[in-house]
Amino acid sequence: KRVISTQMQDEDIKIEKTLRPMTLDEYIGQEKAKANLKVYIEAAKQRGESLDHVLFYGPPGLGKTTLAGIIANEMGVHMKVTSGPAIGKPGEMAAILSNLAEGDILFVDEIHRLNRQVEEVLYPAMEDYVIDIMVGKGATARSIRLDLPHFTLVGATTRAGLLSAPLRDRFGVVHHLEFYNVEELKTIIVHSAKKLEVKIDEEGAIELARRSRGTPRLANRLLKRVRDFAQVQYNGEITKEVASFALDLLEVDKMGLDQNDRNILLTIIEKFQGGPVGLDTLAAAIGEDAGTIEDVYEPYLVKNGFINRTPKGRVATEFAYHHFGIEG
Ligand code: ADP
Repeated sequence: KRVISTQMQDEDIKIEKTLRPMTLDEYIGQEKAKANLKVYIEAAKQRGESLDHVLFYGPPGLGKTTLAGIIANEMGVHMKVTSGPAIGKPGEMAAILSNLAEGDILFVDEIHRLNRQVEEVLYPAMEDYVIDIMVGKGATARSIRLDLPHFTLVGATTRAGLLSAPLRDRFGVVHHLEFYNVEELKTIIVHSAKKLEVKIDEEGAIELARRSRGTPRLANRLLKRVRDFAQVQYNGEITKEVASFALDLLEVDKMGLDQNDRNILLTIIEKFQGGPVGLDTLAAAIGEDAGTIEDVYEPYLVKNGFINRTPKGRVATEFAYHHFGIEG
């Protein structure tokens, strides 16, 4: 399994529970989203109303679920968690909605994967807090309208563009979550180390932060892996030396790239003479799903200047050639 995968793995579930921040103040970075949410939460609380529906988009592991939980916590309400692929039928969505309490948060991860009929239940629910339910069959079938509590839908998706327009338009608040910088990741790592009761020095934290692909989920996962090395092969403290040693063994390089990232880049460089190569062609060449490349791997590679997206396809940059020591 890919150490650097930003998608949730079994080992994350337990540590994420312990490490997940519970308040906006504990949540590092994403200053713009945080500042806005603070105002909306305060205003909604003062008016005694539910919060406007919120959409978070951005690559996995950047803190969308965490923020949803923080909103619930700060509003003093419960959060029900589900995901697009988990809800197959309109009736299931209707049941979830009608079981919410006033002000509650419904968090829908991968919301772009809701099917059309289920999505249509959400339109009147989000807009007017009602659902229409069909009763009876054939000629006697009729629809009755049920009132719902004033709830807040918090949706998460890897790309806002994957959402249908009618659904997207019903979110009052839309935030793009950004990759974290080294300083922010360092702070997250130091906090997490404290909670995990592992000693880490400044340089060690920076080394880990640099190699965490801008992603808190990875920072925490790498911290946990490196902790094991520190314990078994060193005296328990994570220093730059321990971090570098462990991350080299895990094949995470100085820029946080792993095997798959390198595979994508080297394929463009070697098989397609640096590009441009279309996404589907690239996906076929490395045997990976095009959507996964686009949503999970590519954003970091683009953000850090390894790949350019052009109308003709993906192009490896000079920086990418340089990273591998290959002549362009
Ligand atoms: P997403 O829902 O975007 O995939 P999560 O909210 O599950 O990401 O975040 C993954 C983990 O990373 C969380 O459990 C938490 O421990 C950590 N994390 C995410 N964002 C932050 C942050 N801003 N500050 C501190 N820790 C964070």
